[in-house]
Amino acid sequence: MTTASNNDLIVGIDLGTTNSVLAIVKDGVPEIIRIEGHPTMPSCVGLGPDGELIVGQRALNQLVASPESTVQSIKREMGTNHLTTLGAKSYSPEEISSFILRELKNHAEAFLGQPVQKAVITVPAFFDEAQRQATKQAATLAGLEAVRIINEPTAAALAYDAASLTNEKLLVYDLGGGTFDVSVVVVEDGVVEVKASFGDTRLGGDDFDQCLIDHTVAAFKKKHGIDVTTDLKAMRRLKVILERAKCTLTDEPYVKVEEDYLSGNKHLKLEISRSEYEEMIDSYLQKTLTCIHKAMTDAGLVPHQLDKILLVGGASRTPAVARLIETQLKIEPRFDVDPDLAVALGAGIQAATLSGAEIHSILVDITPHTFSTSTIDFSGPVERKICVPLIKRNSPLPTAKSEAFYTLYHGQEEVRVDVYQGEHVNPDENTLIGDFLVRDLSNVPAGNPIILKFDLDLNNMLKVTATEKISGKTREVVMDTREHGRHFDLNEARDNIRGLVGKDIDVESVVDDDDNDEDDYIDTEDSMLATAKDLRKRCDVLIKAGLNEEDASQIEKLLRQSTEAIRDRSWDALLEVNDTLSDVLFYLED
Ligand code: AMP
Repeated sequence: MTTASNNDLIVGIDLGTTNSVLAIVKDGVPEIIRIEGHPTMPSCVGLGPDGELIVGQRALNQLVASPESTVQSIKREMGTNHLTTLGAKSYSPEEISSFILRELKNHAEAFLGQPVQKAVITVPAFFDEAQRQATKQAATLAGLEAVRIINEPTAAALAYDAASLTNEKLLVYDLGGGTFDVSVVVVEDGVVEVKASFGDTRLGGDDFDQCLIDHTVAAFKKKHGIDVTTDLKAMRRLKVILERAKCTLTDEPYVKVEEDYLSGNKHLKLEISRSEYEEMIDSYLQKTLTCIHKAMTDAGLVPHQLDKILLVGGASRTPAVARLIETQLKIEPRFDVDPDLAVALGAGIQAATLSGAEIHSILVDITPHTFSTSTIDFSGPVERKICVPLIKRNSPLPTAKSEAFYTLYHGQEEVRVDVYQGEHVNPDENTLIGDFLVRDLSNVPAGNPIILKFDLDLNNMLKVTATEKISGKTREVVMDTREHGRHFDLNEARDNIRGLVGKDIDVESVVDDDDNDEDDYIDTEDSMLATAKDLRKRCDVLIKAGLNEEDASQIEKLLRQSTEAIRDRSWDALLEVNDTLSDVLFYLED
């Protein structure tokens, strides 16, 4: 259905809470695909004035004017049942994220001039199974196969390694809009090995914004006696201006926060100092310090053994972050790779490696969580349910571990296997990520051995196999978070978003179904995209060789139209622009 080269093409995507970034490796060099001239695209989704889907900067632009039709920071809801209402419908986090991924896919296709169907997508190292599954499902909905889900700090380390090429021990401190991760990474002879990861999926720049919002709301109430927290529009305006103010405080000691008519005829006028702000966010920064210590302990390292500390994620630009790290760990942190782009560049490098490109780095990733099953502990004064870990936190991926468990009763016909994620001995303190029954066991005395095997793949996806040793009877289950309080059905989701993404979704259904009669339709699109790419190359040759102003301007205009047609997946327009370009080139090349 697609050409071999299309199948090999994999892009790297940093699907961020605040911004998303696209990267590829071109001629051996990792490169960001700019979106409308910018290296990052706001992870913002909305409905435009005519109810049409808008994504990225356009959606962010309408956040204040149409807060009810715009959604931000959806990554924080991944893996939950949260629903976002846009217009007359509600959408799951997977569906909203799929709109962002679809937009990135379209931009990648417009830039590369060929279909993009595969991606390496990054997630916070501390994302659990449900959050990782949700990310994969969002990709599928967007018509992308997430060939690998990698941890953000790991990706950042890959990007860093590509820039430095030396053997060293690194601490990657990744503070984004919504999540915080810290990883200890060892780079040795081109192998990037993550030794330990720790983090908090609900800590980031958004929390810093919230501190400033709370402070400002209180100051406004004190001055005017008005509580603006119930006014959605005013709150969205505050979010926008205070996020800007926060970034100003990175570079300046004071910021003036002014907004006319914030509530009725009352204006907001306030000055905030950097030291006041730093006090507000101090408890969050201390939390990041606790995570650093946990990761260092897990990696078996003390701070002076670290060679470098790498800061990643937009919120790590906050000066108090670098100061805290320097005073606590006595190492000056560095921003060698742009903190906003490091993760995507690493994803791009990993994507290129998976496509078969020669890249010197090899990635050794780890699981940030312990996976266990529960059993009854009879050793104490009272019997109690405890968790027995099979795969321990920070094990290198992929990994497989087996353990024997035994039936409790004579003639026991079935056993229930509970699978937990988390670090506690008490199952109630961990997350139950799956359970299943192994039935029709042999009729034998108590102590019948059941071998439990946990296989964790490179995407941190867990497969559990239970085998009755004496009969070889086996039950294999891929942990599916949908069975545990989460309802997500890909086809239902496709139906739900069809109204917004229209024909695209039909095209993907066709791609899924090899026997579909409409294969020709896809081939036509693929060949149109291939033609567009070929024409683009021919134009480049002509432009480099030198054209007169009029011809150059005509070619540039047509190339712009081609890019827009690919981005909008407007096949009729692409056909037309391909034809015109082909005619123009025919005369010019002559
Ligand atoms: P990321 O998820 O890595 O894109 O990071 C986004 C977060 O970084 C948001 O909370 C931004 O407000 C924050 N951020 C971006 N630039 C700065 C800056 N110069 N100073 C402080 N925070 C920033």
